[in-house]
Amino acid sequence: MPKERLFLFDTTLRDGAQTNGVDFTLADKLAIAAMLDELGIDYVEGGYPGANQTDSELFGKDRKLDTTFTAFGMTRRPGRSASNDPGLAALLEAKADAICFVAKSWDYHVKVALETTEEENLASIRDSVRAAKGKGREVLLDCEHFFDGYKANPKYALACAKAAYDEGARWVVLCDTNGGTLPDEVEKLVGEVVKVIPGDHVGIHAHNDTDQAVANSFAAVRAGARQIQGTLNGLGERCGNANLVSIIPTLKLKPEFAARFDIGVSPAALKKLAHVSHALDERLNRAPNRHAPYVGESAFATKAGIHASAIMKDPATYEHVAPETIGNRRKVLVSEQAGKSNVLAELERGGIKVDKDDPRIGRLLEIVKEREAIGYAYEAADASFELLARRTLGKVPNYFDVTQFDVNVEQRNNAKGERVTVTMAVVKVKVGEDNMISAAEGNGPVNALDLALRKDLGKYQKYIAGLKLTDYRVRILNGGTEAVTRVLIESEDEKGDRWTTVGVSANIIDASFQALMDSIIFKLVKSGAPA
Ligand SMILES: [Zn+2]
Repeated sequence: MPKERLFLFDTTLRDGAQTNGVDFTLADKLAIAAMLDELGIDYVEGGYPGANQTDSELFGKDRKLDTTFTAFGMTRRPGRSASNDPGLAALLEAKADAICFVAKSWDYHVKVALETTEEENLASIRDSVRAAKGKGREVLLDCEHFFDGYKANPKYALACAKAAYDEGARWVVLCDTNGGTLPDEVEKLVGEVVKVIPGDHVGIHAHNDTDQAVANSFAAVRAGARQIQGTLNGLGERCGNANLVSIIPTLKLKPEFAARFDIGVSPAALKKLAHVSHALDERLNRAPNRHAPYVGESAFATKAGIHASAIMKDPATYEHVAPETIGNRRKVLVSEQAGKSNVLAELERGGIKVDKDDPRIGRLLEIVKEREAIGYAYEAADASFELLARRTLGKVPNYFDVTQFDVNVEQRNNAKGERVTVTMAVVKVKVGEDNMISAAEGNGPVNALDLALRKDLGKYQKYIAGLKLTDYRVRILNGGTEAVTRVLIESEDEKGDRWTTVGVSANIIDASFQALMDSIIFKLVKSGAPA
């Protein structure tokens, strides 16, 4: 029997941006969208064009993505025509493949929050869908508070959904906005909706206020809905949204769903899921949840004892799925082979060819383990891993040596009597037989050091001219007896390629220096600079 297609809609960049403490920059949004696209997510909701500078810029230019890039916004305001509503106009002008409107579907909200009539709200839905269709966009309607609305007035909640569907909306999305609906209710109500609107036009948008957003999403699918909305790592306001990082592997690996449905995520992309989840955390400067299902560091960790010895005989004894399928790894036992295949996969990702039986692979694995134990995070720092691998395999020339550096931070009053902090760095570099000294002032020690280091690299200067640092993140790790600082630096070159490097030390300057050096050397390797 042919499988049915189930669609995934990610709202990390819109609903996820409502998370306390999360503030995406334009660069963040572009990078996350690219990651979601590569993962095979059908729809990526980028944000709310017109609502803020970042989102307006995001929707101001074309992106090269396969996903259906979606703009979010309100239906036309009550009492206005569609052509005379600036908010709607901004949405229609946005460079997006699809538009997701949000509309009230609870009569109580229509009256109290919107202060309009039920009929005017329906007209607003119809007019907005028509206007977006007229602009050639695929249209979705998020029915806000659908489940609470349906319980209060089923006829009206359905009328809102139906208005959008009849007007040609591709999807009508049922939102559990307050997140308090339970799975059996979701299944029952979605079952009612799909009698009126075909299930392959119905989506579910669940919030996690009873810790059942994932279960609610599956309940909706069981009842007939064919689109699931969620976020990476369950990001979202209050308790978060349905977690796509848990939903995706369940759909791919559990026969109840895998036998019935196809999704856009391939088995190869599924293997990158743990990486995607951790990369998002690193970007947000958050510690990944060790106990996250499927992707957490502890998800397949077994303490020594009878479990471990059974696992060594056959992993299936204590694992509900194979960890490699989602790019995670088994901890304990470390069957050499498992760790090795991870490293080999990483090398392949970096385009490094090496024989799988090369003894240096085992050595590299040891080094990675030792360094991760003291705080290095190679999952986030792809470029540092690649360098480490190339070094272990003897493939990185010694381009230059930093023989000495010095950073001076001074606080004093300037001529105007203002308190200022002045930072200067001096770096001595040896390139071949040439010794060079560069000095630079910066707005902080790391900035000054970076500027001085990149000021003059002699014959290598031309290779790093287009290099710039785009992000700098610091985390204090509690490494047992004393705190250790981990620095992650993201760099970009003239081609727009990005990479991340890592440094770890008890001293923040030292950690930053390591990450800066890795970034420069990675760029030289990448550019094919001669030794
Ligand atoms: Zn929401």
